[in-house]
Order: sequence, then structure tokens, then C-alpha cells
Amino acid sequence: KQDLKGQSVAVVGLGKSGRAAVKLALARGASVLAIDIDKELHPLEHDPLFRNHDQLRTILGDIDIEELQSADKVVVSPGVPLENYGLQSLLQSGRKVISELDFAAELLPTDVKILAVTGTNGKSTVATFAGQMLKHCGVEVFVGGNLGTPLSEAAYQFIKMPSLDPMIKVAVVEVSSYQMEIPCRHFHPSVSVILNISPDHLERHGTMKNYVACKCRLLAQMHNTKLGIVPFGNQLLDEAISDYLDDFALAWIGSFPGVKINTEARLAKLCVPSIGVSSLLNLGKLKAFGTHNYLNAAVAALSILGLDLGINIESINSAIGMLMPPPHRMQLVHNDSQGVTWVDDSKATNVEATLTGLMGMRGRKCIVLLGGMAKIQGAQDSNGFERLTEHLKDQRCVITFGFSGEQIYQTLFANGLAIPCFRSSCLKDAVKLARKLAKQGDTVVLSPGCASFDEFKNFEHRGDVFKELAILEDDQEPIYR
Ligand code: ADP
Repeated sequence: KQDLKGQSVAVVGLGKSGRAAVKLALARGASVLAIDIDKELHPLEHDPLFRNHDQLRTILGDIDIEELQSADKVVVSPGVPLENYGLQSLLQSGRKVISELDFAAELLPTDVKILAVTGTNGKSTVATFAGQMLKHCGVEVFVGGNLGTPLSEAAYQFIKMPSLDPMIKVAVVEVSSYQMEIPCRHFHPSVSVILNISPDHLERHGTMKNYVACKCRLLAQMHNTKLGIVPFGNQLLDEAISDYLDDFALAWIGSFPGVKINTEARLAKLCVPSIGVSSLLNLGKLKAFGTHNYLNAAVAALSILGLDLGINIESINSAIGMLMPPPHRMQLVHNDSQGVTWVDDSKATNVEATLTGLMGMRGRKCIVLLGGMAKIQGAQDSNGFERLTEHLKDQRCVITFGFSGEQIYQTLFANGLAIPCFRSSCLKDAVKLARKLAKQGDTVVLSPGCASFDEFKNFEHRGDVFKELAILEDDQEPIYR
């Protein structure tokens, strides 16, 4: 399918997605111009993955716009704003500017069904749960997109290693708003999920309306679509999707037709009569921490029923006990000999995510570790932590740490935090103190509500160090990487 022999493809942005697109274009026979603004990058020709490819040329730094204009296709990585390289005007003038996601979708085998997941928080978890459920049900499945492996890599793998097995294939694709800035022509999910929408990435999209519009493009793509799953009661979203409502079955998150959770009974009712779905999902065996994961699992289950693969609810119910969220999202990392549970939620890099995490820790006494580099995320330049005071009142205590630790401490204190709050200079000291303070049955949770760059490379690094510190006995010194 889709031979690109004799065609020239320019790929703009050489991060993970861009490099995967280069690999895919070369495998399809195109000659490729690989472009990045960063002069320090190594040209791809020097990379063992691409070496000796006489069809490949890398240009770093400024480029001659004519080079771009002469390409048959310009593939744009999600990290590249459209203001760069005159992409916006190129896009307006013709058809040849395409997102990495759309480029990959064009080259996917036609028998691969797409389940697309977007939203502000929880995308990776829902995509991961859906992938695990599908695998459990015997489906050949790719999980990626914005999370982990780019879709171009999946398209490449499907070409290089065509499955001999006529198994059903599904690509579960996590889609960010960045990836939907350029309207798609080839990416047609069978099921699309918009999990939730709260203010985020406004530095790139300008207004909430633009941000919501990007998310809703997912629904506009669905020419063959059976099902769209969206949050109930969001006025901006209701307006944005009103034009497409006749094109597919609509399911609400939090209402019917759609999915509703009974947290006490640990049950989810999935009910969309127009596609013949009326089922009960039993969440009793779900091991993932936090009640928000009930919803994530239920949305994943409804998506799978919407794919219409012949999978029944019994098979999905039997997968619930083995669902694991991706690392660093409310992940249980250690039960120590003192009866203390250690939970890593390092991915909570904003206050909203920390709030969700805390609300999900029902019935536990937590020592909550907050800190790192706080973002501006409230009114009047506030760091937003005042929103947490109410939700912390039933916990054991708070320990703040890192660059913004003192500031967070002051914010909580000024807003009448009702439990003890301690300060530590760094994560290592915070963990040491937590170990001293923890009583049998307590939970120590790292849900920092901040970026990690003051002490760590990224949130994954922060979570890994936390886990390493958590499993050390008191008298051991950690080995630092
Ligand atoms: P994303 O991929 O959208 O960034 P993740 O699945 O990585 O989302 O989860 C990031 C954080 O968002 C988690 O640590 C959790 O605290 C929070 N979260 C997870 N699921 C939900 C949900 N359904 N609604 C709101 N917040 C959530």
C-alpha cells in the first residue's frame, strides 16, 4: 500500500515522532529531507539507524523555504509550531502539509482499526488499559502515538513484519492537542474518546476555544466511525461537536447513553442502545490505585465494545484484575517491612493531577510529598496549591521539597492547612523524613504537583529515584545515577 517511490518528503522536527516518520518514508521508497532548527543535532545520516541511506539528507538550523516548497509532502512533528518555516502559509496554500500522525495513518494497513484517545488528563492511562484489555482478549494491538511509540513506528513495523496471522489488529492511539493542529485527511478512528477537558497548553493554543476545537477535530475525522465518547456537561465541547452529532453514536462520560460509575459498588454501567451495548463492568478486582482509575477502566471497556470486534463484556471483566497503569501514575512501588505503602505519582506535574490523585486515595492516611518547580496555575500568579488545602485535611501530613518547596509551604500555611507540614531541601531528605514519620498502615505518596527540572531530568527520572529511595532500608545510602 502507498508506495512513495519517486516522491520527495520533507520531515520537519527530528524528535522521536519525526525520526520515526523519516524511517517510514524511507521504507516506503521516498527521498527524504530531514529538517530541524537545532544546529547541535547529529545529522541523521550519521545515525546507525539511517546510515548509508543515499535517499536521506539532513538540514539543521535555518533552511531555504524553497526547499520545503519543492517537496511533494511536508510532514510536521507535533512539537513544531506552525509559525516555524512558514508552515502556516504553506498549509493554507495547498494540500501538502501533513501531521506526523496523519502521514502514519495514510501508510497503515487498511485492516488496522484505530481507537483514538485524547483529553487533558488520563489519556495514557486509558490508552494503556485499552491495550491491556485487547491483548488479554487475543487481539494484536499497538499502543502509542503521543505516548511512547509514535504511530509512524507502528506503520513501519506493520510494513516490515506483516503478520501472517489473520488476527484482528487495533492501533490504540493517544492523541495530544498538538497533533490535531493540522486537520487530518487519513486518520479515521473507529472509536474516538475525549476523556476530559480542563485548561492546559494555552501558551500554544491561545484560547480555551482553540484548545477545545483541536480536541474536537478527533470527532470530525471519523468518517467510518461508530462511536464518540465525550464528557457530559461541557458547554464549549457541546458547541464544538454540534455539527457532527448525526455522524456517529455518541456516548457521554457521566451520563446515558454512555458510562456511569458507582464508586461504592465498584461497578460501571455501560449503556449505548444505538450500538447494542448494555453491560455491567465489575471493577472489584481493579488493582490500580485511585477511584479515577474506575472511570479510566470503564471508558477503555466501552471503547473496546464500540470497536465491534466481537469481544464480549465477560472477556473484558476477566481482564480487570491485571490492568496496570503506566509507570509513575499512582503506581504502587513498595510495601515496606514497617507496613508502609509507597506510591509514585510523579506524573502529577500540575495541581489538577495531584488533586485527582488525592481524591482517589479514599480511606488511606497519606504522607503527601509536594514539590519541585511549581507552575503558575491559579489566579493572580498563584502556584495553585491553595486549592489543595481542603483536600489534604484528612491526611497524616505534608512534606514539601525542592526549588518551590518553601513557596508551597507558605501557600498552604497561609490558606489554613489543618495538618502538620514539614520542609525538606530535596526529594531524598523528604523521603528520609517520611520514613521517620510514617506509622504502620500509612501511605507515602509522591504526587508533587510540580515540574521536576530543579532536581531531575524529567518526571520519569524523579519517579525512578523515589522508588529507589523507597525500597532502601534506612541505613543504606542510595546509588545516584
Ligand atoms: P495524560 O497522558 O493525559 O497526561 P496520564 O494517564 O499520564 O494522563 O495521567 C496523568 C495524571 O492525571 C495522573 O497522575 C492522574 O493523577 C491524573 N488522571 C488520570 N486519570 C484521570 C482522569 N480520568 N481524570 C482526571 N485526572 C486523571
